[in-house]
This record gives sequence, structure tokens and C-alpha cells, in this order.
Amino acid sequence: MKDAKIRLYVDQPLGMGQSVPVSREQAHYLFGVMRLQPGARVALFNGKDGEWQSEVVAAGRKDGVLKCNVQSASQSNPPDLWLLFAPIKKARTDFIVEKSTEMGAARICPVQSEFTNSDRIRQDRLQAHAVEAAEQCGGVFVPEVTNLQKLSRVLDDWPEDRQLMFCDETLAGDEAGLPLKEGPWAILIGPEGGFSQAERARMRRMPQAHAVSLGPRILRADTAAVAAMTVWQQRLGDW
Ligand code: SAH
Repeated sequence: MKDAKIRLYVDQPLGMGQSVPVSREQAHYLFGVMRLQPGARVALFNGKDGEWQSEVVAAGRKDGVLKCNVQSASQSNPPDLWLLFAPIKKARTDFIVEKSTEMGAARICPVQSEFTNSDRIRQDRLQAHAVEAAEQCGGVFVPEVTNLQKLSRVLDDWPEDRQLMFCDETLAGDEAGLPLKEGPWAILIGPEGGFSQAERARMRRMPQAHAVSLGPRILRADTAAVAAMTVWQQRLGDW
């Protein structure tokens, strides 16, 4: 059986013969926009049960039902890597969420540092971007996007066993300096204004934090997020 072209994230259990009701929005997309008829195939994932090939059994304007036939991929999760970043302009923040989902972040955490430009995010919109990115990149895992938190608070509660790749723009040009330590990790990317002296000093005192360089040029925060994830995935991740 050929795999379906359309992939959909659903918030329902998936399993052999399982019926999956679709939401109003999904019905609009599947049956209104994509014009799927009963019998058409859709690949489903929910972040827990792998990927399933399903078949449309009822297609309405506002609702519908899919039925799971066969599992086409088992569940696989990315390495335990969080991406912490200071939100920037809307389109660039969206980019960071989309790209870090594709690159295999397990959790995406917007943080407010001293020089962060924005003090609000739309968590629901960013989470929807992560879902869309997972749908299109063939992943079966959707990273959680957390609410905006103060960086100082996040560091107050920092887990003892989680290493922190602190991307420090003042090190531009130095060796990357990422130690080969196994276990849980996080990447921290600063805002357009960079980190404050106090933040930098605090990170330097944390035994879990490792200040690293991302090459000789100063990158914009969105570029830095992708570059840092590339370096980490290559050294310590699942690439
Ligand atoms: N305004 C700052 C640059 C901020 S760049 C300045 O001119 O110094 C935004 C973030 O991207 C930085 O806080 C850092 O986390 C990351 N970054 C960009 N280029 C980097 C580099 N070459 N090495 C390490 N981190 C970098």
C-alpha cells in the first residue's frame, strides 16, 4: 500500500482499527481544501503512537472520521535537547520554532533575558507552528513550546544534570568549545542585543554551562539557533 501524501497531527489515541474523529478545522482542510473523499488515505501521528496510515470513512463539511489501518512508523523521539531563545520579531520567532522542530528539539522555550525586545508571545500560535513543521518534515514527535519565562528564573531552577550550550557572541572566532558530555542538554541563544554582563557572569559560574562560539561572524539569533542545533546534533545528537 502506498503511504498517504497528507500527514496530520491529531490529539487522539492511534491503534489498529481505531476511529479518529477530526476537528472542524481539520475537516475543512481535508475535505474542503484537499477534497478528500471516503476511501482516501491520510497519515496520522499524535506524538506517542508512531505514524498510522488511515482511511477516510466519513467526510463532512464540519466533521468527519478516519480509521487507522496499519502502523507505518513506530514512535521515535529526538534526543533530550531543549532550545532556549529570546523571542525576536514575529516572523523570525516563527522561523526559530519551525526550524528547531525540523532540527530535532525536544522542547522549545522562549525566555526573556535582560535585552529581550518582546515581553509577550502567542504560545498557542507558536505551538501550532511546531505541529505544522512536524507534519511536513515527516516526524512523529511534536516538541512542546513553553510559555515565555524569565531567563533568570529558568536558571534559578536549572536541573543539575542538564548541560547548557551557552552561545556567547563575545567568543566569535574562538574554537567552538562544545564538550562531549552525554545526557540531557539545552542550547541558549540570546536576543539581538546579546547578553548582559551580569547574565554572562552568571552563566560562567554555572557548572553545567559551557560557553561556545558559533564561528568568526556574529549571526542573527534565528541563524544562530539553526547553526547551534547543527553543531550539537552533529557532535552529540542523532545525525
Ligand atoms: N548584538 C550582539 C549580537 C547578538 S546575536 C552583538 O553585536 O554582539 C544573537 C545571539 O546569537 C547571541 O546572543 C548569541 O547567543 C548568538 N550568536 C550569534 N553569533 C554568535 C557567535 N559567533 N558565537 C556564539 N554565539 C553567537
